This record gives sequence, structure tokens and C-alpha cells, in this order.
Amino acid sequence: MNAAVKGTALVTGASSGIGATYAEKLSARGYDVILVARDAARLNALAERIAAATGRRAEVLRADLTDRADLAAVERRLAEDAAITLLVNNAGMSLNGGLLDNEPAAIERLIALNITAPTLLASAAGKAFVARGRGGIVNVASVLALAPEMFDGVYSGSKAHLLNLSLSLAAQVEDKGVRVQAVLPGATRTEIWERSGKDVNAFPPEMVMEVNDLVEASIVGFERGETVTIPPLADEAQWAAFNQARLAMGPGLSRREVAARYRRPAEASAA
Ligand code: NAP
Repeated sequence: MNAAVKGTALVTGASSGIGATYAEKLSARGYDVILVARDAARLNALAERIAAATGRRAEVLRADLTDRADLAAVERRLAEDAAITLLVNNAGMSLNGGLLDNEPAAIERLIALNITAPTLLASAAGKAFVARGRGGIVNVASVLALAPEMFDGVYSGSKAHLLNLSLSLAAQVEDKGVRVQAVLPGATRTEIWERSGKDVNAFPPEMVMEVNDLVEASIVGFERGETVTIPPLADEAQWAAFNQARLAMGPGLSRREVAARYRRPAEASAA
């Protein structure tokens, strides 16, 4: 986010919380912004504030990203608008209750918003950015991608998908002028909690980050060239060790031989 000409950032989920804060901070850093979410009134109010405060162009692109026609319109915009240099894939939701408490429609809705939409948007932006030799994709995942036992698995699984997608895409495009970053927030004070029937104040205060701090840290992480940014994690070596351990398994993950522990005793002795 340091280039002299920043271009345009398309931010999903820009009507509140992390997305609105990204839009404000990116415009203050010289980006024009395209604000995507469902609540047009809130988006229009934010666009006016941004234009007044920064003089940057702020456009509202209203879309329900669980609606395939709306999603396709945002994909088209990413594919066709050569001014767009940054996608912030941020829109997301969590469930009231978990896998065992929700009807299929609610679970499908979370998958549509947290998995299908950011995946198709990353695909559209990735293809366009590679063709132009320039661009950045920020995927807002969650620390729960690393800690599924702490929350509901549908939500944490959707965030693990985004982390996995980011690591894979980053490796594919790193030599093509395109940057990919997964941001893993911990508990952050936004509306997502009340929207899903939870109370963020139930956490001890020292476990909850303010949204301004979270987004500022995420942008610093992007500027540091990180593929994975975990703003609350004080000990960077813990992520490095985890990632090294994961990568070290690589050479052993696909082999003709079945591992010894999976052979029946007779087979093991016959071998
Ligand atoms: P938030 O304030 O509830 O923001 C969610 C945003 O997504 C809103 O702008 C909302 O706008 C938009 N959105 C919801 N449904 C949508 C739909 N169907 N189509 C288009 N946009 C939709 O929550 P937040 O905490 O900032 O969440 C942002 C991201 O951070 C999410 O991906 C979340 O999973 C992730 N995250 C949050 C935390 C946390 O503790 N807050 C922690 C880890 C990760 P409209 O209602 O106007 O559509």
C-alpha cells in the first residue's frame, strides 16, 4: 500500500466494522474506494464522509454477496475496471449457535458469504491483477482458522478455507506482481457479535481488540510484505514455528507406501 499511485480499493462489508475502517484508512492513504455491502444508506453516508475527509472518490456498489447475480456484478467490476489495484475480501458473518443449532438455510448462507463470495471475488481479482502485472488481495480470515476448538466449526472452517486459499494463491502469484495477505483477527469490537446474538463484552477486556487498532495493524502487516498477519499474536516465532512444522511434513504427505501404523499386524510382519 506504498505505491505512489494507489488506484482503487474495492472493500466488501464496508458498511460497518473492519470493512468501514479499511475504507477510511485506505482512502486516507490515497486510494479511491468502492464500498460493497447491502445497506445502501450506511454506505452512502460513509462515502460522503470519505469524500469530505480525504477528497478521494468513494463509490457505493450495493450488493448482497449471497445473491449470485449481485456477486457476479462485483466479479465483473473486478475483472473490467483496470483502476482497481486492491481487493479487501472482508464481508462475513457468524452464526447464532453452531452446526447443531442451525437450519440448513442458515448454514448455507454462511458458506455463501464466508466461502463462495470471497473465493469467486479472489478468482476474478486474481486473474485481472495477474493480467495487469499488479494488485493486492487481502482476505479477512480469523485466528479461529488455527483454533477450531474455540468456536463453531462452520465459521472457523470458513476462515480456515480463506487462510488455505490465501497461502495457495500467494504462492501462485508471488512472481507476477500480485500480493496476497490473509488477516487473522482475534476478537474485535464490531457489530458481528450482536448480529449473531453474542456479547463481545462477555470476553475479558484484555482479549478484545478495538477495530481501529486491528485494521491499522493489518495494513502495517501488508506493508511488511506478510502473507499471514495475526495482529494479536505477540510472539511472531509461534506462527513461524507452526508454519515450519506444517511445511516440513510436505515431503512425507504423498507416498506409495502406507505408513507402518496403518498396516495390520499380519501385513506388518509379512512385509
Ligand atoms: P460487521 O461489523 O458485522 O461487518 C460485516 C460486514 O459484512 C458489514 O459491512 C455487512 O454489511 C457485510 N455483510 C453482511 N452480510 C452481507 C451480505 N449478505 N452481502 C454483503 N455484505 C454483507 O463485522 P466485522 O467484525 O467488521 O466483520 C468483518 C470480517 O471480519 C468478517 O469476515 C468477520 O468474519 C471477520 N472477523 C471478525 C472478528 C471480530 O471479532 N469482529 C474476528 C475475526 C474475523 P451489510 O449488513 O450492510 O450488508
